[in-house]
Amino acid sequence: MADESDAESRPLRVAVVGAGPAGIYAAETLTRRAPVPVTVDLLDRLPTPFGLVRHGIAPDHPKMRAIRDTLHRALDDPGVRFVGNVEVGTDVTLEDLRAHVDAVVYTYGAALDRPLSVDGEDLPGSLAATDLVAWYCGHPDADRARVESALEGVRRAVVVGVGNVALDVARVLARAPQELEPTDMPQHVLDVLAAAPVEEVTVLGRRGPAQASFTTMELRELDGLEQATVLVDPADLELSPAAEERIAGDRNATRNLAVLRGWAGHDAGPGRVALRLRFHRRPVRLLGADRVTGVEVERTTVGDDGRATGTGEFEVLPADLVVRSVGYRGEGLPGLPVDQRSGTVPNEQGRVLRDGRPSPGEYVAGWIKRGPSGVVGTNKHDARETVTSLLADAEAGVLRSGGDRDDLVRTLQARGAEPVLLEDWRAIDAAEVALGATRGRARTTMHERETLLAAVRAATAR
Ligand SMILES: Cc1cc2nc3c(=O)[nH]c(=O)nc-3n(C[C@H](O)[C@H](O)[C@H](O)COP(=O)(O)OP(=O)(O)OC[C@H]3O[C@@H](n4cnc5c(N)ncnc54)[C@H](O)[C@@H]3O)c2cc1C
Repeated sequence: MADESDAESRPLRVAVVGAGPAGIYAAETLTRRAPVPVTVDLLDRLPTPFGLVRHGIAPDHPKMRAIRDTLHRALDDPGVRFVGNVEVGTDVTLEDLRAHVDAVVYTYGAALDRPLSVDGEDLPGSLAATDLVAWYCGHPDADRARVESALEGVRRAVVVGVGNVALDVARVLARAPQELEPTDMPQHVLDVLAAAPVEEVTVLGRRGPAQASFTTMELRELDGLEQATVLVDPADLELSPAAEERIAGDRNATRNLAVLRGWAGHDAGPGRVALRLRFHRRPVRLLGADRVTGVEVERTTVGDDGRATGTGEFEVLPADLVVRSVGYRGEGLPGLPVDQRSGTVPNEQGRVLRDGRPSPGEYVAGWIKRGPSGVVGTNKHDARETVTSLLADAEAGVLRSGGDRDDLVRTLQARGAEPVLLEDWRAIDAAEVALGATRGRARTTMHERETLLAAVRAATAR
Protein backbone atom coordinates (compact mmCIF):
# COMPACT_ATOMS: atom_id res chain seq x y z
CA MET A 1 0.00 0.00 0.00
CA ALA A 2 1.22 3.49 -0.80
CA ASP A 3 0.93 6.42 1.54
CA GLU A 4 -0.46 9.92 1.11
CA SER A 5 2.84 11.46 -0.01
CA ASP A 6 3.07 8.95 -2.87
CA ALA A 7 -0.41 9.98 -3.92
CA GLU A 8 0.74 13.58 -4.15
CA SER A 9 3.93 12.88 -6.10
CA ARG A 10 2.53 10.53 -8.74
CA PRO A 11 0.31 11.35 -11.69
CA LEU A 12 -3.44 11.36 -11.35
CA ARG A 13 -4.63 7.89 -12.37
CA VAL A 14 -7.83 7.60 -14.33
CA ALA A 15 -9.56 4.58 -15.85
CA VAL A 16 -11.90 5.21 -18.77
CA VAL A 17 -14.39 2.41 -19.42
CA GLY A 18 -15.11 2.15 -23.16
CA ALA A 19 -12.78 3.12 -26.02
CA GLY A 20 -15.46 4.62 -28.26
CA PRO A 21 -15.43 8.30 -29.23
CA ALA A 22 -16.53 9.50 -25.78
CA GLY A 23 -13.82 7.48 -24.01
CA ILE A 24 -11.14 8.55 -26.46
CA TYR A 25 -12.12 12.21 -26.25
CA ALA A 26 -12.17 11.98 -22.45
CA ALA A 27 -8.68 10.42 -22.44
CA GLU A 28 -7.40 13.04 -24.86
CA THR A 29 -8.84 15.94 -22.88
CA LEU A 30 -7.43 14.55 -19.65
CA THR A 31 -3.89 14.19 -20.93
CA ARG A 32 -3.87 17.46 -22.87
CA ARG A 33 -5.74 19.80 -20.56
CA ALA A 34 -5.02 18.69 -17.02
CA PRO A 35 -2.77 21.09 -15.10
CA VAL A 36 -1.19 18.04 -13.42
CA PRO A 37 0.32 14.87 -14.97
CA VAL A 38 -2.35 12.28 -15.72
CA THR A 39 -2.19 8.67 -16.87
CA VAL A 40 -5.23 7.06 -18.42
CA ASP A 41 -6.07 3.38 -18.81
CA LEU A 42 -8.60 3.25 -21.64
CA LEU A 43 -10.43 -0.06 -21.27
CA ASP A 44 -12.65 -1.79 -23.76
CA ARG A 45 -14.40 -5.14 -23.70
CA LEU A 46 -13.38 -5.65 -27.33
CA PRO A 47 -9.82 -6.20 -28.53
CA THR A 48 -10.32 -3.19 -30.81
CA PRO A 49 -10.86 0.52 -30.10
CA PHE A 50 -13.32 3.06 -31.63
CA GLY A 51 -16.72 1.70 -30.47
CA LEU A 52 -19.47 2.58 -32.93
CA VAL A 53 -17.01 4.27 -35.27
CA ARG A 54 -15.91 0.72 -36.07
CA HIS A 55 -19.13 -1.17 -35.33
CA GLY A 56 -21.86 1.36 -36.12
CA ILE A 57 -20.99 3.95 -38.76
CA ALA A 58 -21.98 2.42 -42.07
CA PRO A 59 -19.09 0.79 -43.95
CA ASP A 60 -20.25 2.47 -47.18
CA HIS A 61 -19.39 5.81 -45.53
CA PRO A 62 -15.59 5.51 -45.64
CA LYS A 63 -14.99 9.24 -45.11
CA MET A 64 -17.00 9.17 -41.89
CA ARG A 65 -15.30 6.00 -40.73
CA ALA A 66 -11.93 7.65 -41.36
CA ILE A 67 -12.54 9.63 -38.18
CA ARG A 68 -10.81 6.68 -36.53
CA ASP A 69 -7.52 8.10 -37.83
CA THR A 70 -8.12 11.27 -35.83
CA LEU A 71 -9.20 9.27 -32.79
CA HIS A 72 -6.08 7.15 -33.09
CA ARG A 73 -3.89 10.13 -32.28
CA ALA A 74 -5.18 10.07 -28.70
CA LEU A 75 -4.26 6.38 -28.41
CA ASP A 76 -0.71 7.22 -29.44
CA ASP A 77 -0.34 9.67 -26.53
CA PRO A 78 2.17 8.20 -24.03
CA GLY A 79 -0.15 9.18 -21.18
CA VAL A 80 -2.91 6.94 -22.56
CA ARG A 81 -2.77 3.13 -22.39
CA PHE A 82 -5.31 1.23 -24.48
CA VAL A 83 -6.36 -1.91 -22.59
CA GLY A 84 -8.68 -3.93 -24.82
CA ASN A 85 -10.33 -7.31 -24.31
CA VAL A 86 -11.23 -6.45 -20.72
CA GLU A 87 -14.88 -6.26 -19.78
CA VAL A 88 -15.58 -4.08 -16.79
CA GLY A 89 -18.19 -5.75 -14.62
CA THR A 90 -16.96 -9.22 -15.66
CA ASP A 91 -13.15 -9.32 -15.88
CA VAL A 92 -12.84 -6.61 -13.27
CA THR A 93 -15.49 -5.32 -10.89
CA LEU A 94 -16.17 -1.63 -10.47
CA GLU A 95 -14.92 -1.81 -6.93
CA ASP A 96 -11.71 -3.47 -7.99
CA LEU A 97 -11.18 -0.99 -10.79
CA ARG A 98 -11.75 1.91 -8.46
CA ALA A 99 -9.15 0.51 -6.08
CA HIS A 100 -6.53 0.86 -8.82
CA VAL A 101 -7.21 4.45 -9.82
CA ASP A 102 -8.19 7.85 -8.49
CA ALA A 103 -11.15 8.29 -10.82
CA VAL A 104 -13.19 6.28 -13.31
CA VAL A 105 -14.98 7.72 -16.33
CA TYR A 106 -17.73 5.45 -17.69
CA THR A 107 -18.08 5.81 -21.46
CA TYR A 108 -19.43 2.38 -22.35
CA GLY A 109 -22.16 3.56 -24.69
CA ALA A 110 -25.76 2.46 -25.11
CA ALA A 111 -25.71 -0.85 -26.91
CA LEU A 112 -29.24 -2.21 -26.38
CA ASP A 113 -32.04 -1.83 -28.89
CA ARG A 114 -35.46 -0.46 -28.05
CA PRO A 115 -38.24 -2.93 -28.83
CA LEU A 116 -41.42 -2.16 -30.79
CA SER A 117 -43.38 -4.12 -28.17
CA VAL A 118 -45.78 -5.63 -30.71
CA ASP A 119 -46.81 -9.24 -31.27
CA GLY A 120 -44.58 -11.23 -33.59
CA GLU A 121 -41.50 -9.18 -32.81
CA ASP A 122 -39.50 -12.30 -31.91
CA LEU A 123 -40.30 -14.22 -35.09
CA PRO A 124 -37.39 -15.30 -37.29
CA GLY A 125 -36.99 -12.60 -39.93
CA SER A 126 -37.48 -9.84 -37.35
CA LEU A 127 -34.25 -8.13 -36.33
CA ALA A 128 -33.16 -5.13 -34.34
CA ALA A 129 -31.03 -2.65 -36.27
CA THR A 130 -28.43 -3.25 -33.56
CA ASP A 131 -28.22 -6.92 -34.69
CA LEU A 132 -27.98 -6.12 -38.38
CA VAL A 133 -25.52 -3.26 -37.94
CA ALA A 134 -23.31 -5.31 -35.61
CA TRP A 135 -23.30 -8.09 -38.21
CA TYR A 136 -22.48 -5.97 -41.25
CA CYS A 137 -19.77 -4.10 -39.32
CA GLY A 138 -18.18 -7.37 -38.12
CA HIS A 139 -18.80 -6.99 -34.36
CA PRO A 140 -17.43 -10.09 -32.60
CA ASP A 141 -20.69 -10.58 -30.68
CA ALA A 142 -22.97 -10.34 -33.73
CA ASP A 143 -25.41 -13.24 -33.99
CA ARG A 144 -24.38 -14.43 -37.45
CA ALA A 145 -26.74 -17.38 -37.60
CA ARG A 146 -29.83 -15.32 -36.75
CA VAL A 147 -29.02 -12.44 -39.08
CA GLU A 148 -27.91 -14.60 -41.99
CA SER A 149 -30.99 -16.82 -41.81
CA ALA A 150 -33.16 -13.66 -41.70
CA LEU A 151 -31.47 -12.38 -44.86
CA GLU A 152 -31.70 -15.64 -46.78
CA GLY A 153 -33.96 -15.23 -49.79
CA VAL A 154 -35.21 -11.82 -48.62
CA ARG A 155 -37.19 -9.94 -51.29
CA ARG A 156 -39.15 -7.42 -49.29
CA ALA A 157 -37.74 -5.67 -46.24
CA VAL A 158 -39.45 -3.19 -43.94
CA VAL A 159 -37.29 -0.92 -41.80
CA VAL A 160 -39.26 0.61 -38.94
CA GLY A 161 -37.96 4.03 -37.94
CA VAL A 162 -36.97 7.26 -39.64
CA GLY A 163 -33.61 8.16 -38.13
CA ASN A 164 -30.19 8.02 -39.77
CA VAL A 165 -29.61 4.44 -38.58
CA ALA A 166 -32.81 3.35 -40.36
CA LEU A 167 -31.53 5.01 -43.54
CA ASP A 168 -28.13 3.30 -43.13
CA VAL A 169 -29.86 -0.07 -42.90
CA ALA A 170 -32.18 0.62 -45.84
CA ARG A 171 -29.30 1.84 -47.98
CA VAL A 172 -27.09 -1.15 -47.21
CA LEU A 173 -29.95 -3.52 -48.07
CA ALA A 174 -30.74 -1.69 -51.31
CA ARG A 175 -27.18 -1.28 -52.58
CA ALA A 176 -25.78 -3.25 -55.50
CA PRO A 177 -23.03 -5.74 -54.58
CA GLN A 178 -20.42 -3.75 -56.52
CA GLU A 179 -21.15 -0.68 -54.38
CA LEU A 180 -20.35 -2.60 -51.18
CA GLU A 181 -17.43 -4.55 -52.62
CA PRO A 182 -14.75 -1.91 -51.80
CA THR A 183 -15.89 -1.46 -48.17
CA ASP A 184 -14.28 -3.02 -45.10
CA MET A 185 -17.27 -5.32 -44.48
CA PRO A 186 -16.23 -8.90 -43.69
CA GLN A 187 -16.30 -11.14 -46.76
CA HIS A 188 -19.15 -13.32 -45.48
CA VAL A 189 -21.28 -10.17 -45.07
CA LEU A 190 -20.61 -9.12 -48.66
CA ASP A 191 -21.46 -12.63 -49.86
CA VAL A 192 -24.75 -12.85 -47.94
CA LEU A 193 -25.87 -9.36 -49.02
CA ALA A 194 -24.94 -10.06 -52.64
CA ALA A 195 -27.02 -13.26 -52.60
CA ALA A 196 -30.14 -11.61 -51.11
CA PRO A 197 -32.63 -11.02 -53.95
CA VAL A 198 -33.93 -7.73 -52.49
CA GLU A 199 -36.65 -6.09 -54.64
CA GLU A 200 -38.22 -3.65 -52.20
CA VAL A 201 -37.14 -1.85 -49.04
CA THR A 202 -39.76 0.18 -47.18
CA VAL A 203 -38.78 2.68 -44.52
CA LEU A 204 -41.71 3.23 -42.21
CA GLY A 205 -42.40 6.33 -40.12
CA ARG A 206 -44.98 6.35 -37.33
CA ARG A 207 -45.41 10.08 -37.73
CA GLY A 208 -45.08 12.44 -40.70
CA PRO A 209 -42.06 13.63 -42.66
CA ALA A 210 -41.94 16.76 -40.49
CA GLN A 211 -41.07 14.61 -37.47
CA ALA A 212 -38.49 12.38 -39.15
CA SER A 213 -35.12 12.70 -37.45
CA PHE A 214 -32.88 11.70 -40.37
CA THR A 215 -30.61 14.41 -41.68
CA THR A 216 -30.95 15.81 -45.18
CA MET A 217 -27.51 14.64 -46.27
CA GLU A 218 -28.31 11.01 -45.40
CA LEU A 219 -31.72 11.33 -47.03
CA ARG A 220 -30.37 12.78 -50.26
CA GLU A 221 -27.82 9.99 -50.54
CA LEU A 222 -30.62 7.48 -51.16
CA ASP A 223 -31.15 9.00 -54.58
CA GLY A 224 -27.67 8.09 -55.76
CA LEU A 225 -27.86 4.32 -55.35
CA GLU A 226 -26.92 2.33 -58.44
CA GLN A 227 -29.79 -0.12 -58.49
CA ALA A 228 -32.50 1.52 -56.35
CA THR A 229 -35.13 4.21 -56.94
CA VAL A 230 -36.62 6.18 -54.05
CA LEU A 231 -40.41 6.24 -54.03
CA VAL A 232 -42.57 8.58 -51.97
CA ASP A 233 -46.36 8.78 -51.90
CA PRO A 234 -47.36 12.44 -52.41
CA ALA A 235 -50.31 11.90 -50.03
CA ASP A 236 -47.81 11.24 -47.22
CA LEU A 237 -46.32 14.69 -47.72
CA GLU A 238 -49.52 16.68 -47.27
CA LEU A 239 -49.22 18.74 -44.11
CA SER A 240 -51.74 20.43 -41.86
CA PRO A 241 -51.32 24.21 -41.49
CA ALA A 242 -49.94 23.62 -37.97
CA ALA A 243 -47.35 21.18 -39.31
CA GLU A 244 -46.39 23.62 -42.09
CA GLU A 245 -45.87 26.29 -39.47
CA ARG A 246 -43.79 24.02 -37.27
CA ILE A 247 -41.67 22.89 -40.16
CA ALA A 248 -40.93 26.49 -41.20
CA GLY A 249 -38.91 26.92 -38.00
CA ASP A 250 -36.96 23.68 -38.45
CA ARG A 251 -34.27 23.80 -41.12
CA ASN A 252 -33.63 20.08 -41.20
CA ALA A 253 -37.34 19.28 -41.58
CA THR A 254 -37.78 21.99 -44.25
CA ARG A 255 -34.91 20.60 -46.29
CA ASN A 256 -36.05 17.02 -45.81
CA LEU A 257 -39.51 17.88 -47.04
CA ALA A 258 -38.14 19.65 -50.11
CA VAL A 259 -36.06 16.55 -50.96
CA LEU A 260 -39.01 14.22 -50.40
CA ARG A 261 -41.32 16.37 -52.53
CA GLY A 262 -38.77 16.21 -55.31
CA TRP A 263 -39.12 12.42 -55.31
CA ALA A 264 -42.91 12.20 -55.11
CA GLY A 265 -44.39 10.45 -58.10
CA HIS A 266 -41.19 8.66 -59.23
CA ASP A 267 -41.46 5.13 -60.71
CA ALA A 268 -39.10 2.32 -59.78
CA GLY A 269 -38.48 1.06 -63.29
CA PRO A 270 -37.95 -2.57 -64.18
CA GLY A 271 -35.24 -4.51 -62.38
CA ARG A 272 -34.58 -1.77 -59.85
CA VAL A 273 -35.02 -2.00 -56.08
CA ALA A 274 -38.01 0.07 -54.91
CA LEU A 275 -36.83 2.06 -51.89
CA ARG A 276 -40.09 3.35 -50.42
CA LEU A 277 -40.36 5.99 -47.73
CA ARG A 278 -43.77 5.75 -46.07
CA PHE A 279 -45.08 7.88 -43.26
CA HIS A 280 -48.10 7.99 -40.91
CA ARG A 281 -48.08 4.24 -40.33
CA ARG A 282 -47.30 2.44 -37.11
CA PRO A 283 -46.66 -1.26 -36.85
CA VAL A 284 -49.20 -3.05 -34.68
CA ARG A 285 -48.21 -6.67 -35.33
CA LEU A 286 -45.64 -8.71 -37.24
CA LEU A 287 -47.39 -11.47 -39.15
CA GLY A 288 -46.21 -15.02 -39.84
CA ALA A 289 -46.24 -18.49 -38.33
CA ASP A 290 -42.63 -19.61 -38.33
CA ARG A 291 -41.09 -16.52 -39.91
CA VAL A 292 -42.14 -12.99 -40.74
CA THR A 293 -44.47 -12.64 -43.73
CA GLY A 294 -45.65 -9.07 -43.23
CA VAL A 295 -46.31 -6.14 -40.97
CA GLU A 296 -49.77 -5.00 -40.04
CA VAL A 297 -49.76 -1.22 -39.75
CA GLU A 298 -52.30 1.31 -38.59
CA ARG A 299 -52.59 4.65 -40.34
CA THR A 300 -51.97 7.60 -38.02
CA THR A 301 -52.55 11.30 -37.90
CA VAL A 302 -50.24 13.70 -36.16
CA GLY A 303 -51.77 16.18 -33.74
CA ASP A 304 -50.61 19.75 -33.19
CA ASP A 305 -48.58 18.43 -30.27
CA GLY A 306 -46.59 16.28 -32.73
CA ARG A 307 -48.01 13.00 -31.36
CA ALA A 308 -49.30 10.20 -33.58
CA THR A 309 -52.82 8.89 -33.06
CA GLY A 310 -54.19 5.75 -34.68
CA THR A 311 -57.05 6.24 -37.16
CA GLY A 312 -58.41 2.69 -36.93
CA GLU A 313 -57.50 2.00 -40.59
CA PHE A 314 -55.23 -0.97 -40.98
CA GLU A 315 -53.24 -2.41 -43.86
CA VAL A 316 -50.72 -5.20 -44.33
CA LEU A 317 -47.29 -4.61 -45.85
CA PRO A 318 -45.88 -7.91 -47.10
CA ALA A 319 -42.33 -8.43 -45.85
CA ASP A 320 -39.93 -11.29 -45.25
CA LEU A 321 -37.56 -9.14 -43.20
CA VAL A 322 -38.46 -6.51 -40.61
CA VAL A 323 -35.74 -4.41 -39.02
CA ARG A 324 -36.71 -2.20 -36.11
CA SER A 325 -34.64 0.93 -35.75
CA VAL A 326 -36.40 2.86 -33.06
CA GLY A 327 -33.49 3.76 -30.82
CA TYR A 328 -30.70 2.56 -28.64
CA ARG A 329 -30.61 2.50 -24.86
CA GLY A 330 -28.00 1.97 -22.19
CA GLU A 331 -27.90 -0.33 -19.21
CA GLY A 332 -26.10 -0.26 -15.88
CA LEU A 333 -22.88 -2.08 -15.16
CA PRO A 334 -23.04 -4.29 -12.07
CA GLY A 335 -22.74 -1.79 -9.22
CA LEU A 336 -23.53 1.32 -11.27
CA PRO A 337 -26.95 3.02 -11.16
CA VAL A 338 -28.93 3.52 -14.37
CA ASP A 339 -32.16 5.36 -14.95
CA GLN A 340 -34.35 2.68 -16.53
CA ARG A 341 -36.52 5.11 -18.42
CA SER A 342 -33.79 7.09 -20.16
CA GLY A 343 -31.22 4.27 -20.15
CA THR A 344 -28.54 6.67 -18.90
CA VAL A 345 -26.42 6.91 -15.76
CA PRO A 346 -27.79 9.69 -13.51
CA ASN A 347 -25.26 12.50 -13.47
CA GLU A 348 -24.68 16.17 -12.96
CA GLN A 349 -22.26 17.69 -15.47
CA GLY A 350 -20.74 14.24 -15.82
CA ARG A 351 -20.48 13.49 -12.06
CA VAL A 352 -22.21 10.18 -11.38
CA LEU A 353 -25.04 10.59 -8.90
CA ARG A 354 -25.67 7.87 -6.35
CA ASP A 355 -28.82 8.42 -4.31
CA GLY A 356 -28.98 11.89 -5.83
CA ARG A 357 -25.47 12.88 -4.68
CA PRO A 358 -22.23 13.12 -6.68
CA SER A 359 -20.12 10.03 -6.06
CA PRO A 360 -16.50 11.22 -5.70
CA GLY A 361 -14.24 9.78 -8.38
CA GLU A 362 -17.00 8.50 -10.69
CA TYR A 363 -17.86 10.21 -13.96
CA VAL A 364 -19.74 9.47 -17.13
CA ALA A 365 -19.58 10.70 -20.76
CA GLY A 366 -20.99 9.92 -24.19
CA TRP A 367 -24.16 7.99 -24.96
CA ILE A 368 -24.39 6.44 -21.51
CA LYS A 369 -24.39 9.97 -20.07
CA ARG A 370 -26.80 11.80 -22.36
CA GLY A 371 -28.56 9.07 -24.36
CA PRO A 372 -28.11 7.91 -27.95
CA SER A 373 -28.10 11.18 -29.87
CA GLY A 374 -25.71 13.40 -31.73
CA VAL A 375 -22.82 12.80 -34.06
CA VAL A 376 -19.33 11.60 -33.15
CA GLY A 377 -18.18 15.20 -32.52
CA THR A 378 -20.97 15.76 -29.98
CA ASN A 379 -19.10 13.41 -27.68
CA LYS A 380 -16.11 15.72 -27.70
CA HIS A 381 -17.94 18.62 -26.04
CA ASP A 382 -19.67 16.15 -23.79
CA ALA A 383 -16.38 14.55 -22.67
CA ARG A 384 -14.90 17.98 -22.06
CA GLU A 385 -17.69 18.88 -19.66
CA THR A 386 -17.10 15.64 -17.76
CA VAL A 387 -13.33 16.07 -17.62
CA THR A 388 -13.77 19.64 -16.40
CA SER A 389 -15.81 18.27 -13.48
CA LEU A 390 -13.21 15.58 -12.80
CA LEU A 391 -10.31 18.01 -12.79
CA ALA A 392 -12.21 20.44 -10.55
CA ASP A 393 -12.79 17.59 -8.08
CA ALA A 394 -9.11 16.62 -8.26
CA GLU A 395 -8.15 20.22 -7.54
CA ALA A 396 -10.64 20.35 -4.65
CA GLY A 397 -9.11 17.16 -3.21
CA VAL A 398 -12.33 15.16 -3.21
CA LEU A 399 -11.07 12.19 -5.25
CA ARG A 400 -10.38 8.94 -3.45
CA SER A 401 -6.74 8.01 -3.74
CA GLY A 402 -6.43 4.83 -5.79
CA GLY A 403 -6.07 1.96 -3.29
CA ASP A 404 -3.13 -0.41 -3.54
CA ARG A 405 -2.08 0.98 -6.92
CA ASP A 406 -0.86 -2.26 -8.37
CA ASP A 407 -0.63 -1.97 -12.08
CA LEU A 408 -4.06 -2.79 -13.46
CA VAL A 409 -2.77 -4.72 -16.46
CA ARG A 410 -0.49 -6.85 -14.27
CA THR A 411 -3.39 -7.59 -11.94
CA LEU A 412 -5.58 -8.61 -14.89
CA GLN A 413 -2.88 -10.80 -16.42
CA ALA A 414 -2.29 -12.51 -13.09
CA ARG A 415 -5.97 -13.42 -13.10
CA GLY A 416 -5.74 -15.04 -16.53
CA ALA A 417 -7.20 -12.16 -18.58
CA GLU A 418 -5.58 -11.39 -21.93
CA PRO A 419 -5.46 -7.60 -22.18
CA VAL A 420 -4.84 -6.24 -25.68
CA LEU A 421 -2.50 -3.25 -25.54
CA LEU A 422 -1.68 -0.65 -28.19
CA GLU A 423 1.02 -2.72 -29.90
CA ASP A 424 -1.37 -5.69 -29.98
CA TRP A 425 -4.05 -3.55 -31.55
CA ARG A 426 -1.52 -2.42 -34.13
CA ALA A 427 -0.97 -6.10 -35.00
CA ILE A 428 -4.74 -6.53 -35.50
CA ASP A 429 -4.85 -3.37 -37.57
CA ALA A 430 -2.00 -4.60 -39.79
CA ALA A 431 -3.65 -8.02 -40.18
CA GLU A 432 -6.92 -6.37 -41.32
CA VAL A 433 -5.09 -4.19 -43.81
CA ALA A 434 -3.24 -7.26 -45.14
CA LEU A 435 -6.50 -9.22 -45.38
CA GLY A 436 -8.13 -6.39 -47.32
CA ALA A 437 -5.16 -6.18 -49.69
CA THR A 438 -5.75 -9.78 -50.79
CA ARG A 439 -8.90 -8.47 -52.53
CA GLY A 440 -7.65 -5.01 -53.45
CA ARG A 441 -9.39 -3.29 -50.53
CA ALA A 442 -7.95 -0.86 -48.00
CA ARG A 443 -9.05 -3.15 -45.15
CA THR A 444 -11.31 -6.05 -44.30
CA THR A 445 -12.74 -6.18 -40.80
CA MET A 446 -11.94 -9.38 -38.92
CA HIS A 447 -15.07 -10.29 -37.05
CA GLU A 448 -14.23 -13.16 -34.73
CA ARG A 449 -12.72 -12.42 -31.36
CA GLU A 450 -10.49 -15.48 -31.72
CA THR A 451 -9.18 -14.30 -35.11
CA LEU A 452 -8.43 -10.89 -33.64
CA LEU A 453 -6.59 -12.45 -30.71
CA ALA A 454 -4.77 -14.86 -33.03
CA ALA A 455 -3.36 -11.86 -34.90
CA VAL A 456 -2.05 -10.53 -31.58
CA ARG A 457 -0.53 -13.88 -30.60
CA ALA A 458 1.08 -14.30 -34.01
CA ALA A 459 2.71 -10.87 -33.74
CA THR A 460 3.86 -11.54 -30.17
CA ALA A 461 5.43 -14.86 -31.20
CA ARG A 462 7.49 -13.19 -33.93
C1 LIG B 1 -25.63 2.46 -36.42
C2 LIG B 1 -25.00 3.78 -36.07
C3 LIG B 1 -24.48 4.59 -37.06
C4 LIG B 1 -23.91 5.81 -36.73
N1 LIG B 1 -23.42 6.58 -37.73
C5 LIG B 1 -22.86 7.78 -37.43
C6 LIG B 1 -22.33 8.61 -38.47
O1 LIG B 1 -22.38 8.25 -39.65
N2 LIG B 1 -21.77 9.79 -38.12
C7 LIG B 1 -21.69 10.20 -36.80
O2 LIG B 1 -21.16 11.28 -36.53
N3 LIG B 1 -22.20 9.44 -35.80
C8 LIG B 1 -22.77 8.25 -36.08
N4 LIG B 1 -23.29 7.48 -35.08
C9 LIG B 1 -23.22 7.99 -33.69
C10 LIG B 1 -21.85 7.71 -33.03
O3 LIG B 1 -21.42 6.43 -33.37
C11 LIG B 1 -21.99 7.89 -31.52
O4 LIG B 1 -22.25 9.28 -31.26
C12 LIG B 1 -20.76 7.50 -30.72
O5 LIG B 1 -20.19 6.29 -31.15
C13 LIG B 1 -21.10 7.38 -29.22
O6 LIG B 1 -19.89 7.24 -28.54
P1 LIG B 1 -19.74 6.50 -27.15
O7 LIG B 1 -18.28 6.50 -26.90
O8 LIG B 1 -20.64 7.10 -26.14
O9 LIG B 1 -20.28 4.99 -27.37
P2 LIG B 1 -19.72 3.81 -28.26
O10 LIG B 1 -19.22 4.27 -29.56
O11 LIG B 1 -20.80 2.80 -28.25
O12 LIG B 1 -18.48 3.22 -27.44
C14 LIG B 1 -18.66 2.49 -26.25
C15 LIG B 1 -17.50 1.52 -26.08
O13 LIG B 1 -17.61 0.91 -24.78
C16 LIG B 1 -17.27 -0.46 -24.87
N5 LIG B 1 -17.89 -1.16 -23.74
C17 LIG B 1 -19.20 -1.45 -23.57
N6 LIG B 1 -19.38 -2.10 -22.40
C18 LIG B 1 -18.16 -2.21 -21.82
C19 LIG B 1 -17.71 -2.79 -20.61
N7 LIG B 1 -18.54 -3.37 -19.74
N8 LIG B 1 -16.38 -2.76 -20.35
C20 LIG B 1 -15.51 -2.19 -21.21
N9 LIG B 1 -15.90 -1.62 -22.37
C21 LIG B 1 -17.21 -1.62 -22.67
C22 LIG B 1 -17.80 -0.86 -26.23
O14 LIG B 1 -17.17 -2.04 -26.72
C23 LIG B 1 -17.50 0.37 -27.08
O15 LIG B 1 -16.22 0.27 -27.69
C24 LIG B 1 -23.86 6.24 -35.37
C25 LIG B 1 -24.40 5.43 -34.38
C26 LIG B 1 -24.97 4.20 -34.72
C27 LIG B 1 -25.55 3.34 -33.64
